[in-house]
Amino acid sequence: MMYNPLAPVSDTAVIYHEVFNERGFSRLTRSWERYRVALLKFRELALIDSNYDPANPPEINSSGRVSVYHPVQATIEELSIVHDPAYIQFVIEMDEKGEGMFDRNDTPAWRGIYRRAAMAVGATLLGADLIATDRVKHVFNPAGGLHHAQYDRASGFCLFNDIVMAVRRWQKQYGFERIAILDVDGHHGDGTQNLLYHEPILTVSLHMYDGRFFPRTGTLEERGSGKGEGYCLNLPFPRFTTDAEYLKGFDLALEAVERYRPQAIILQYGADGHYTDRMSGLKLSTRAYEYVAEQTHALAHRACNGRLLVVGGGGYEPEVVERCWAILLAQLAGQKTVSAAAYTALHDPLTDMPQPNPDSIAQSSQMLSLAKDVLDSMNLR
Ligand SMILES: [Zn+2]
Ligand SMILES: [Zn+2]
Repeated sequence: MMYNPLAPVSDTAVIYHEVFNERGFSRLTRSWERYRVALLKFRELALIDSNYDPANPPEINSSGRVSVYHPVQATIEELSIVHDPAYIQFVIEMDEKGEGMFDRNDTPAWRGIYRRAAMAVGATLLGADLIATDRVKHVFNPAGGLHHAQYDRASGFCLFNDIVMAVRRWQKQYGFERIAILDVDGHHGDGTQNLLYHEPILTVSLHMYDGRFFPRTGTLEERGSGKGEGYCLNLPFPRFTTDAEYLKGFDLALEAVERYRPQAIILQYGADGHYTDRMSGLKLSTRAYEYVAEQTHALAHRACNGRLLVVGGGGYEPEVVERCWAILLAQLAGQKTVSAAAYTALHDPLTDMPQPNPDSIAQSSQMLSLAKDVLDSMNLR
């Protein structure tokens, strides 16, 4: 191929498949369109090629500031690296039946769900490959981040755990040993934690916790075991936590990742902690998400040559999700690629910010001081 000095050089990629825009895993039908509206937003901001057509996608479109890659679905063999083969078979059978529930009450079966779930994993695996082979530094798979999926069962809208799939891909195919997972979804990343609990793979989760809130896990006492002891950090925030307290916790999370000296970072960027999202009781704004994106991006460059795989996770208000995701891509690709006015318009109006709750702040400070002790006791060597 001829060298073209005018071709844009992109170190950031987003992965998109038209199946993401079809039916989703939850019954929250309004949330299903978040992929479609986000892609339109990326086009409008010229983050991706403004002519990108998801109905007729090339394998790679690198005409925009951010490249767009088209994934293929993960195979049964690939899924078996993380999941019980009998469970994978069960998902295929439920897909054929086209009805019933995967878990108690959250995740229904329907015709096509297997392909949709395997595509979400395929997209994350493509991202892991692109990063490990140095084709790009940062990848965003909006359809990934299915952090509740367990070894042999589905949970909370998650069938297959693409985050742990990426960890296994990096370990087995590229020899990575130190991988850090940072999970800012409003819910605890329980599936990811369980699957990696006995290994020295760092898992850090920030989430709402009150003992009853789904999935009811993610306390400071859960710190990993055996070879994994001291490689698990949970930051369980009370209901009504606002940006200031949350970001103090996020700084502790960053410190854990930095001390761990990762070879690559996975960020689960679930936007359901936003104050308008009713799926969690956290009251975060787009400014918290901006801080998460900006600081994790900077840390990836300091710690591991920029290797950062971001997966979408939760987020059930499409109008909020598209703004959080655009902020993420603008941060990864270099904020100057979006005009200052367009970038400011991605943020929540300052007149509409949630008010800090004094009880919640008191509980947070107590939790954060205990979390600091946990962090100090972590080995991370
Ligand atoms: Zn969530
Ligand atoms: Zn960068």
